[in-house]
Amino acid sequence: MTSMSKDKIVNSVPQTGFFGHPKGLFTLFFTEFWERFSYYGMRALLLYFMYTEVSSGGLGIEDGTAKSIMAIYGSLVYMSGIIGGWIADRLLGAQRTVFHGGVLIMLGHIILALPAGKTALFISMFLIVIGTGLLKPNVSNIVGDMYSPQDNRRDSGFSIFYMGINMGAFIAPFIVGTIGQEYNYHLGFGTAAIGMFLGLVMFLITQKKSLGLAGTYVPNPLAQDEKKKVFGRFALGTVVIMLLAAITVPTGILTINRFTYLVSILGIVIPALYFIVMYRSPKTNEDEKSRLLAYIPLFVAAMVFWAIAEQGSIILAEYADKRTDLSVFGMTLQSSWFQSLNPLFIIALAPIFAGMWVKLGDRQPSTSKKFSYGLFFAGLSFVVMIIPAWLGGVDTLVSPIWLVLSFLFVVIGELCLSPVGLSATTKLAPSAFSAQTMSLWFMSNASAQAINAQIVKLYTPDTEILYFGIIGGVSILLGVILYMSSPKIQSFMRGVK
Ligand code: GLU
Ligand code: ASP
Repeated sequence: MTSMSKDKIVNSVPQTGFFGHPKGLFTLFFTEFWERFSYYGMRALLLYFMYTEVSSGGLGIEDGTAKSIMAIYGSLVYMSGIIGGWIADRLLGAQRTVFHGGVLIMLGHIILALPAGKTALFISMFLIVIGTGLLKPNVSNIVGDMYSPQDNRRDSGFSIFYMGINMGAFIAPFIVGTIGQEYNYHLGFGTAAIGMFLGLVMFLITQKKSLGLAGTYVPNPLAQDEKKKVFGRFALGTVVIMLLAAITVPTGILTINRFTYLVSILGIVIPALYFIVMYRSPKTNEDEKSRLLAYIPLFVAAMVFWAIAEQGSIILAEYADKRTDLSVFGMTLQSSWFQSLNPLFIIALAPIFAGMWVKLGDRQPSTSKKFSYGLFFAGLSFVVMIIPAWLGGVDTLVSPIWLVLSFLFVVIGELCLSPVGLSATTKLAPSAFSAQTMSLWFMSNASAQAINAQIVKLYTPDTEILYFGIIGGVSILLGVILYMSSPKIQSFMRGVK
C-alpha cells in the first residue's frame, strides 16, 4: 500500500471522540470488550463443565483429558489467527473479517448453551477457534490503521484497547461464571453468547461513522486466477480433512489424545517454519536477519511466559475448585471468580507500569531485560504455590490468598512482557512480513498452549509440589539466562531497543 492511501485511510477516521483518540477506538474497544467477555466467561466455566459428572450437569470427561482439551483449545484459538490474518489481507479486508468472526463466535457459544453433550462441545470449539482467528488479530490491526505512522498517540491507543480486553475478562467470571455455577452451565454459556451478540450490534451500529475506511480495503488482494487456484485447494483440503475425520474418528484411530499430540507438534513446527521462511527470504536484508536471530530467544521466553500464564484458567482453576477453601468472611466464593484476578491486577497495575517506563525514559530496561523479568515473575507465581502444600499437605483446603498472590505475580510478569512483546515483534520482524506481525506474536501463545496440552496432564494434588516447583524453577532459570545474555541479544537487534 502506498503512503498516499495510508493517509487517505487515516483522514477518513474521525481523529477525536474517545478520550482524545480516534472515534473508531470506541467501536473497537467495545467489540473486543464483548468478545473477550464471551471468551473468558466461557473459559471460566469450561474446565468445570468438562470434568463435572454428567449427573451434576457436566460432561464427565476425565480430569487430565479435560485439562489437555483446555490447552489445545486455547492453542488453536490463537493459531487460527494466521488464517484470519490471511483472509483479511487477501480476501475480505479486516472489517468484514471481524464481523464474520463475531458471528461464528456467537454461534459457538449458542451451541454450547444447548444441552447436547460432547458433540456440541466440539462443534462449538471449532466455531470459536475459527471465529476468534478471524476477529481477534483483525480488530487489533484496525486499531493500528487509525493512526498515522507519526502519531504519538498510537501506543496509548493500544493501552486503552488492552484495558478493554481486560475489563471484559474481568467482569465475565462474575456474570457468566456465577450464572453457570449457581444455576446451570448452559445458561452461563448462553450469557457468553449474549455478550458476543452485544459486541456485534455495537460494531454494526457504530462501524460506518467511526471507522471510516480503516479495515475496509483488501491490502494484498488475490488475483482472479489465484482466487480460483486457492478456492480449489481450499475445497480439496476441506474434503480431505473431512474424509480423514470420517475414517479416523469412528475407527478410533484419531482419539483426543492423538489429536492433542498433533496440535502440540504443530505448535513447534509452525513457528519454526515462520522463522526459516523469513530468514531465507530474499526480501530479508542482513540487518533484518540479525534482528530475527535476536527475536528467537524472545519468542521462546514469551512461550514459557504464556505457558505459565495460560495455566491460570487450567491448573489454577482446578486448584480453586479442589484445593481452596471457598468460604471467606461468611461468604461463599465461586471458583470461577478467581479468573477475574488476572485482569483485575492488569487494570490496576498497567497504568503504574506505563508511568514507570515513561518516568525511566532512556534508563528503562531493554526489551530483553523486560522479558527476563516476565519469566522471573511467572516462575515466582508457580513457586509460591509450593508453600501451601509444603506447610499443610495436600489433604486440607487452603486459603484463597495463595491464588491471589500467584495471580498477582504472574500479572507483574505479564506487564513486563506482554505490552512490549507486540511492539518488539513489529520492530524485529522483517518489513516484508509486517502483515503477519500480529499472527506471529499470537503464535507465541499458541505454541505455549500446544505444549501445555502435554504438561497439564501431569498435575494432581499429589504431584503438586514437584509440578509447581519444576515449572516455576525452569522459568526463573531461563529468566536469569536471558538477563545475562541480554547485552548480546540487544547487539543483534542492530539499533532496536
Ligand atoms: N490476555 C490477552 C488477550 O486475551 C493477551 C493474549 C496474548 O497476547 O497472547 O488478549
Ligand atoms: N490478561 C489477559 C489478557 O491480557 C486476560 C486474562 O488472562 O484474563 O488479556
